[in-house]
Amino acid sequence: MGPPVTRLVLTGAHVVIGDGTVLDHATVVVDGDRISSVESDPAPTAGDLRPDDRVIALDGRTVMPGMVNCHFHATYHRLGSVPAPFGLEEPMAMQVVRAVRNLERLVLAGFTGAVSAGAPFAIDASMKTAIDRGLIMGPRLVPCSRDISTTGHAGDLSFPAHWEVGALGAIRRSDGPDEFRRSVRQEIKEGAEMIKIFVTGGHGTIGPREQTEVSAEELAAAIDAAHQRGARVRGHIANKEALLMALDLGIDIVDHGDGMDDECIDRLLATDTPLVPSMLFPARFLESMGGASLGFTDAMRTDIEAMAAVLPVANAAGVRLVLGDDFGALGFPHGPYAEEIAYYVEEIGIPALDVLTWATRNGAEVLGMGDELGTVTPGKLADLLVIDGDPVSDVNLLRDPDAFLAVLLGGRLVTDRLPSEQLLAEQLPADRR
Ligand SMILES: [Zn+2]
Repeated sequence: MGPPVTRLVLTGAHVVIGDGTVLDHATVVVDGDRISSVESDPAPTAGDLRPDDRVIALDGRTVMPGMVNCHFHATYHRLGSVPAPFGLEEPMAMQVVRAVRNLERLVLAGFTGAVSAGAPFAIDASMKTAIDRGLIMGPRLVPCSRDISTTGHAGDLSFPAHWEVGALGAIRRSDGPDEFRRSVRQEIKEGAEMIKIFVTGGHGTIGPREQTEVSAEELAAAIDAAHQRGARVRGHIANKEALLMALDLGIDIVDHGDGMDDECIDRLLATDTPLVPSMLFPARFLESMGGASLGFTDAMRTDIEAMAAVLPVANAAGVRLVLGDDFGALGFPHGPYAEEIAYYVEEIGIPALDVLTWATRNGAEVLGMGDELGTVTPGKLADLLVIDGDPVSDVNLLRDPDAFLAVLLGGRLVTDRLPSEQLLAEQLPADRR
């Protein structure tokens, strides 16, 4: 048996529960790896405390759930800047080093969970193993596959395509239902728990968004093969017809969702399928292009304006929206992950508490741990953040590394800049007064 675990008692907390509500003047107690209690006034009395409790008076600072990034590419680095086959831009070992660094960085930025959206060479599966064995520090991770898609789809093209190099690192090229089924099985064998399929072009790829890259038979076979073995399927989808097709076939996560309209919203609600709008990368990319009017920039601008109009409608209707984006793409470096939150609040007009719910409760559900994580609730695992201020009134706080006074991962303090222990005399147990 190990040594007794010191409880962490956070008093005077402003608690962002994670479900769209807040609680003020609360005491949150972390005991071992779990949250043991969350109570509003009165503050704990001497009888409530144990001699070895670590008691911190937060004086109104915020406690909130660790966030979840639901579209993460740990290996991406300036993707799109090198005319090499997708996934082969750098040696595999170099990509592994980047993945280790980016996963650690994600946690320090307050994201204690990540659902990968694809990595070459089954790197994700090894990352998950390394995290689970304590070899590296990283979030709770759902490892994703290589991209499975068809010959000549946007991710399979490289310069010059006629050499037939193929994008073997990042893509498992497959044609026909049987090959899709085999590819899914191979990825699961190599450790993938999530399968990524490029259902369409568009949204940052060189293919037009109207171009659907897989047949219904191929997608159905992939989803069936994944579900048979307990894996899920996510799809890069950027047109309405493909979105409706994928929902009909039982896709588990919709990435991007450009082209969404009211009919799509109804279907997303009926199937309760989560959607990752991931608008920040195309928005920043367009900004970096200035007012340039190239064919693809015009198309991107039209897509993003349409999404900016429909996203608040989808949010208000209750579509399960989550955070996550293509950090690591050209001009969109890893690191400032919470910029997404500020973008949706300040530029798209979604209420801050709603976006924080995307980041926490909704993210935990997509992580597959909705019962264990995502809200500050007694009994749940203590993946928590302590923020020096109130992110509901100023979401930009979450972009500031200095604002994170604590990051807890399963009750373990990964970051600890908490104010020094402040035991009030009347809170001390009688024998310590
Ligand atoms: Zn992506």
